[in-house]
Amino acid sequence: MIDDSLANNLTRKIIQQAKSGGYAVGGFCVFAADRAHAASVPISLHLDHCLKPSDAYLALECAFDSIMIDGSMFDEEENIRYVRSIVERAKAKNITIEAELGRMEGKEDGVPQIDLETVWTDPKKAASFVRETGVHFLAPSFGNVHGPYGPGGAEKHWQLDRLMKIYEKLGDRTPLVLHGTHPLSDDLVRVAMRLGMVKINQNRSVRNKYHEYLANFGGKGDLIALQENAVEAYSQDIERVMTEVFMSAGKA
Ligand SMILES: [Zn+2]
Repeated sequence: MIDDSLANNLTRKIIQQAKSGGYAVGGFCVFAADRAHAASVPISLHLDHCLKPSDAYLALECAFDSIMIDGSMFDEEENIRYVRSIVERAKAKNITIEAELGRMEGKEDGVPQIDLETVWTDPKKAASFVRETGVHFLAPSFGNVHGPYGPGGAEKHWQLDRLMKIYEKLGDRTPLVLHGTHPLSDDLVRVAMRLGMVKINQNRSVRNKYHEYLANFGGKGDLIALQENAVEAYSQDIERVMTEVFMSAGKA
């Protein structure tokens, strides 16, 4: 069962408020914990794709509000045992846990490639996985890939009927987390939000302008101005998705 002693956990509060408020929150890449916690809206610090158990144990000793445990290299039974053991340990630290059920294809920045085949999340198993592990948020695999998507894009690869069944099985109890957003149309993100996605990870899709700026101006002129302007370009893309798609601006 999901443990309510963690109701004060920052990630959980942010996600629950987004769920009841009908908006989604973005999972963006940041590299400074103090800045996140000092922001004027609640921003929690989440560690994504923690692959090795030793990394998970280390992360539990750090300033994270939540951790994603990626046990996708394990078989089903082992994954349940592993995630459950981390959820137990995390409870004492007031940290909430996100887990992946199934296995998403593709390579994510900073995460070693696992050469195992994709496993889609079985909707029938989603509810029992959550119940048995006590995990707080679930990242399903329904044709989403850690991009880029092949021909036809996410529209062709996503199995929306599978996602809908997963959402139905979990009901309102477990917020879903969307991985594999490079790239997605705004409309498809809105569809995902209607099907239970409350946290939406964003990496490559919001940093194109940042890269463009560095490619055009890197090595020329003032270093401080280069850094500031590149971050400003990054912020513009984040601001756009928060304002126009997630509807989370001013909230989280
Ligand atoms: Zn991911």
